[in-house]
Amino acid sequence: MYDVRQVREDFPILKRRVGDRPLVYLDNAATSQKPRQVLDALTEYYERHNANIHRGVHRLAEEATALYEEARRKVARFLGAPDTRSVVFTRGTTESINLVAYAWGRKNLREGDEVVLTESEHHSNLVPWQLAARAAGAKLRFIPVREDGALDMEAAEQLIGPRTRLVGCIHASNVLGTINPVERLAALAHAHGALMLVDGAQSAPHVPVDVKSLGCDFFAASGHKMLGPTGVGVLWARPELLEEMDPFLGGGEMIREVHLEYSTWNDIPYKFEAGTMNIAQAIGLGAAVDYLSGLGMENVREHERHLGEYAYRRLSELEGITIFGPEKDRTGVVAFHLPDVHPHDLSQLLDEEGIATRSGHHCCQPLMRRLGVAATARASFYLYNTEEEVDALVEAVQRAREFFG
Ligand code: PLP
Repeated sequence: MYDVRQVREDFPILKRRVGDRPLVYLDNAATSQKPRQVLDALTEYYERHNANIHRGVHRLAEEATALYEEARRKVARFLGAPDTRSVVFTRGTTESINLVAYAWGRKNLREGDEVVLTESEHHSNLVPWQLAARAAGAKLRFIPVREDGALDMEAAEQLIGPRTRLVGCIHASNVLGTINPVERLAALAHAHGALMLVDGAQSAPHVPVDVKSLGCDFFAASGHKMLGPTGVGVLWARPELLEEMDPFLGGGEMIREVHLEYSTWNDIPYKFEAGTMNIAQAIGLGAAVDYLSGLGMENVREHERHLGEYAYRRLSELEGITIFGPEKDRTGVVAFHLPDVHPHDLSQLLDEEGIATRSGHHCCQPLMRRLGVAATARASFYLYNTEEEVDALVEAVQRAREFFG
């Protein structure tokens, strides 16, 4: 049995008040809150083990290295990755995708090649490919999003072809609450000899992920959206691809030998971890995936599916509202638009009631244009949110409407 009351006890911040109201934190797609287990792992690291890794032979350096590498093993297990060497620590999803666009793109994209993305990409899976395509003379093509928020898979079948070198797609949308059929896209990509990159920023925290069954070649995620600290993220890639790719950043630790005129590279994954890494943050991410695994990702998914569908149903009671994405089988991201209240004004009024939401384009300007809005309001739920918090949101939105009406 998933006991959300007990889960909430692990998150100290959920006890705070905003003004005279209890905090209702519904901005989890932007970043998640952290359980005590993660905060303790950070404190314990700094109080007992702090040292640089992979360098010193003293006790603290060995302990810090062991903790950092243990975190890598935990993340590999969490993502279903059979080979620990295939997990590269980065600063987050954005850096992971830039790593691929630069290190893989620079070596493999040529004039006339195509990269197929979707209309619903976050800017971080769009702009890096714009840069890579421009440098190579390659072309970007886009799978359309249908009215119900799903990808137009018939169009995808037409778009992915012999010129395609890579298909890139968000696994779960940070606006539409959809989970995209990335397995099918991966199969289409592979049928044409192309690679598949999955932006897992909104899936790794919320649904069970197994990179083997997704069939992808690259998978990117951010620690801070999955209960971990900011400043750490992951790129999982098939090890043979990492072996073939040139480095992304140059500097200490990513080398084997350095001469004045040239260098040779360290083994993977270290070839992609230049300079002093975010050691404490990676260890914190290890504690976060332990926590998620302890709850069970199937349970997390069910809890959030329920909250997402419940929020959809309750918000639908408001006259004139547009809720983006599907009614059923959605994630806990619920973006909506009211004809009579600007999303920014709404977020501000909700904040006065202690309810944290997000309003804006959610780093998806092309998707906003596709949806025909400049901005939306967005409530995004996580494993510690409750039905009562959905009710508080809906009632506060109703009051905001009356205020503006
Ligand atoms: N991709 C998606 C779908 C996201 O929602 C986000 C963050 O909102 C990102 C990528 C970028 O993540 P980060 O800012 O942690 O690099």
